[in-house]
Amino acid sequence: MSIKFYNTLTRSKDEFKPLDGKEVRMYTCGPTVYYFAHIGNLRAYLFMDSLRRTLKYNGYSLKHVMNITDVGHLTSDADEGEDKMMKAARRENKDPFQIADFYMNAFFKDIDKLNIDRPEIIARATEHIDVMEDYVKKIIDNGYTYHTDDTVYFDTSKLDKYPELSDRKVDEQKAGARVEFDSAKRNISDFALWIKAPESHIMKWDSFFGKSYPGWHLECSAMGYKYLGEQFDIHTGGVDHIPIHHENEIAQAKGFCGKIPAKFWMHVNFLKVDGGKMSKSLGNLYTLEDLEEKGYEPLVYKMFNYTSTYRIPINFTFEAMDAAKVALGRLREGLLAHKEGQEKVSEDVIKDYEEKFLDAINDDLNMPQAMSVVWDVVKNPIKSKDLYNLIIKFDEVLGLDLANYEKKEEELPEEIQKLVEERNKAREEKKWAESDKLRDMLIEKGYNVKDSKEGTIVEKK
Ligand code: AMP
Ligand code: ZN
Repeated sequence: MSIKFYNTLTRSKDEFKPLDGKEVRMYTCGPTVYYFAHIGNLRAYLFMDSLRRTLKYNGYSLKHVMNITDVGHLTSDADEGEDKMMKAARRENKDPFQIADFYMNAFFKDIDKLNIDRPEIIARATEHIDVMEDYVKKIIDNGYTYHTDDTVYFDTSKLDKYPELSDRKVDEQKAGARVEFDSAKRNISDFALWIKAPESHIMKWDSFFGKSYPGWHLECSAMGYKYLGEQFDIHTGGVDHIPIHHENEIAQAKGFCGKIPAKFWMHVNFLKVDGGKMSKSLGNLYTLEDLEEKGYEPLVYKMFNYTSTYRIPINFTFEAMDAAKVALGRLREGLLAHKEGQEKVSEDVIKDYEEKFLDAINDDLNMPQAMSVVWDVVKNPIKSKDLYNLIIKFDEVLGLDLANYEKKEEELPEEIQKLVEERNKAREEKKWAESDKLRDMLIEKGYNVKDSKEGTIVEKK
């Protein structure tokens, strides 16, 4: 069975095979830890989770590195107002290292709540400064740089080709005028590799360049090389990494050893909220904890993500979350119905489901398609332990922790259940006044009532 992934480098869906047989070596650009991850960030790691699980499901072992950016944008008062890390440090009366520790731990809590399979190697930038220094020295020796008094720059005009991943022309950057042209740079696309730290800069290290710190693209190149070698299989990140961060990683690797580091470059698209950009000022930037406070368990957010493929934007709304909540409930209930099932299902039927599921995930991680196979199994009128086992097997990819779900004993009291049933009946018969009256009664008795296309959710306030 062949696996196909969309490769940003070739701009096509290509057949995937690991460079060295059975082990897949890959690198994921991880979080910058200055604040809690928002649900957009978490979409990126849910994509990473689907990719890891799909590769494992196909029998591959993984050597996967994810970095934690805990250095690079971290300056002191000089950048006041812009640097969220310092703002957080001041607010919480901690230094940037403590802030990084705190938000890294918060990040891993979110990852665990979403049952995201963790990369084998987590590499913190601050623990690899020496690796970055060795890496940059070789780029310098190879003649790809120039420097001013305070910055070592990468000279992109030395490359055979730049950019590799994006179609953008370098000149367009100028026309766009959004990128400020640093007059010390020889070419608009040149970028800083190593920077001398001003007195006020808190995170700095003794190096060949005095008290200084690395440019932020460098960490991924250097740590990728340290753990995965000059060339590996897959590099992942968000679509926002394509035009600059990943271009510059490729430039650095070419300066270092003349090679593009990864064969496949995979990028996850953005999460929008209510059709637009998510931002703090609009009050629509949510963390996983915000969702929990609103009554959504984290796995509902994972379920919601399976309504879209990773390459297209997904639109977050609370209506869609309600639908995902109902769907996850139905999936669990349906699974339990099969668990006790005594009937037998033929091997051919099982095989057919398995093939369809594998086709879906191996077609560039088509999770909506995979979910439709799961629903076919769940809704099969034959109740069978074989189907239960099959869904548990599929859950190796879905990561919805289905095997550990046991029907919670928090059933609604009989009186409430009766009101819900009466209301459902009224709704079916389009007796809206009666249904509204019953809803008010439920609210008065301390219950939240939410209607969606998929059904009604009633739960204690
Ligand atoms: P950061 O911590 O800012 O470096 O971002 C971590 C990851 O989140 C990166 O892979 C980004 O591409 C990704 N990301 C940021 N905003 C969004 C969004 N709204 N939707 C999806 N991914 C996002
Ligand atoms: Zn990176």
